[in-house]
Parts: sequence; structure tokens; C-alpha cells
Amino acid sequence: MATPIPLNFMWADESVLLDDIQRGISEGMVKWATDFYNNKSVNKLFELDVNPSSPPTKRSASKYVLTKSGGVSPDLRTLDEIVPAEKREYARLDQLIKEREKEQVELKKRETLLTSLIGTIEKEQDQLSLQRESSTDPQEIARIKIDQARARQERASAIASKERVSQSFSSSLTVQLRLYDEQRAVWDKMKGKESEISGDRMFRLQMALRYALDGIGSESRINVIFCKAKVSSGKYQVLGEARNELTERIEVLPSQFLLWPYRYIVIDLSPGHRKTLAHEVVHLSGRGHPDARTIFKGFKKVPLLNISLPDLEVVPGGFFDGPENDIMNYKRTDPEAKDTTMNILDQVDLRNYLLRLAGKPWSLAGTP
Ligand SMILES: [Zn+2]
Repeated sequence: MATPIPLNFMWADESVLLDDIQRGISEGMVKWATDFYNNKSVNKLFELDVNPSSPPTKRSASKYVLTKSGGVSPDLRTLDEIVPAEKREYARLDQLIKEREKEQVELKKRETLLTSLIGTIEKEQDQLSLQRESSTDPQEIARIKIDQARARQERASAIASKERVSQSFSSSLTVQLRLYDEQRAVWDKMKGKESEISGDRMFRLQMALRYALDGIGSESRINVIFCKAKVSSGKYQVLGEARNELTERIEVLPSQFLLWPYRYIVIDLSPGHRKTLAHEVVHLSGRGHPDARTIFKGFKKVPLLNISLPDLEVVPGGFFDGPENDIMNYKRTDPEAKDTTMNILDQVDLRNYLLRLAGKPWSLAGTP
């Protein structure tokens, strides 16, 4: 007998729901997943059990909407893709700051040397003055005068040099302070992104509210949120994410949480990726992807320098995940369900997970 996959569809807001109804995106994913689990390679092990039934209508689905308007738009781009840009910028600024520090040390050295040079010249000038005062020999006085003129000139040029050095020092300091400011701004941006990026906290808060207010959702069903996400514009797009249980649960009342603590799935509402739902369901079992890999694509010529450098590309773990036609492999964006397979280990793990999920019967205790 097929093991049911109990899902609870939700939409980030009403406009997302209406868009979904119009374009039949979740409907297409349900159809694809149904065909997929029915196909021989998956041994007809699973069947979808979706609330509200697919296709959704405005009437059947509006209570499954997380919020009326202004729904969360999570960023599904990988951290590798976003934060490293800031990290690189941070490192670049760090380098510039260090260069300023070095420069300032040099300038300080020069300033000290010039100060002592000026001191030496001034001492010489004092001596020359004394000599001139005590001298009566016109020849000697003439020689002293020449020396005094030379000393004056040397002192003036040393003072001018010192002036230039201290100007350089203070402009270097100004640049450095500006770099520190820029670096702090990059840091704030990085930190801000980390917490905002996923929309996870907001989604969990909204799911907890939907449950507390309208009893939508349950411990034994997996919420699947359709939303308009920010996705990579690059070659490797992630359009869905399965998110784990919270390790720390905040209970308001027994079984009532401030933040929805259970596993859930987020899917970007974009057409042409019908397998996303079936793919994310496999992740529910705890299944991850192998690590990302760096692949060597050959050498690329650097113009002007006339040298060749290795051309490397980092591909995410899902890309090399088993055979190309495996449900967990990203390579084909929108294959047909009948041409897609599922690893036997993933089948076993998913079945075990679903049985465990069903073994925890939902209790209405705690419902307001
Ligand atoms: Zn995946």
C-alpha cells in the first residue's frame, strides 16, 4: 500500500494564491509528483495527500493564505551567492586599511627623521650665530654668513618636507577612517542579510498564528508554502527549500507555539519547474545534497598579460547528485515525471520518515 505524503498547502499571501490559481503552478507540481510516485521506478510507494485539494480555488484555499497582503518573499539564493560578495568587499577594504596603516608607519618614521634633522640644523644655526658674534675676522664672518644662508635654506626645505609628510599622514588617516566606515556598513549589510534573507522567522510566526487563530496546519502534516521568492539569476537556481524543525521551541500554551517548530517546505511560484515539490518532499526525510564541487573547465586567457589561468566553476551539491535523471539532481530543470527516477535509499528513508510522522497522531488539545 502506498504511503501517503500528507501536505498542507499555504500561500504567502492572497496575490500569490490568485497567481497560482491562474497559472496552475501548484496544480502542475501536484500532477507531476502524482505521476512520479506512480511511476515504476518509485515502485508506487507513495501518494500525495494534499490540503486543500488540488487544484486550489479561491473558495477552498483562501483560509490557507498566510497573510492577506504583503507576504514574505524569502531569498532562496545560496549564501555562497550573496554574502561572499560582501565578504570579498570586506576583505578588499581590510587590505586597503592595512595598506594605509603601513603607509602611516612609514610617514611617521619620515616625520621623526625630519624633526631630528630640523633640530640638528637649528643647533648648527645657534653655533653659527655664536661664532659670528664672537668673530672679528671679516673673511671668517663672510664664510659664516654663507653657512648661515645654507642652514636657513636647509631648515626651510626640511620644514616644508615635514609639512608635506604630516599632510600626507592626515589625509591617509582620513582615507582610513572612511574605509572603516565603509567596512562597518558592509558588515551591517552582511548581518542584516543573514537574518532577513530566509524569511524563516516570519514564516514560522505566521504559521503559528494561522494555527492558533484558525487551526490551519498540524504536527502530522507538512506545510508547503508557495511564495514569490528571490531566486538566483544565474545558471543554478534553487526554487525550493525544505526547512528543519526548530531545536528550541517556544510554547505559549501546551502544543501552541510562538514560532511554528515543524519541518516545512518553501517553494517559489515559478512555472517550468514542476518537479520542485517532489524534490523537496524527498528532502523531508533529512536527505541533503553532497557538497558543492569545484570543476575545472579549462584555461582562460588573460588578455594584456598574455597568460592563461585555470577556469574554475563552483556548482552546488544538487547538480552532481546521482544520475542525471535522479529526482535529486538539478541538472534537468523540467523533465517529465516518467523519465525521472528515485534512489532506493531515498525511497526507504522517505517511507520511514512518513511512517514516523504518521505515528505521532495530531491531538486537538491546545486548540483555542
Ligand atoms: Zn534539493
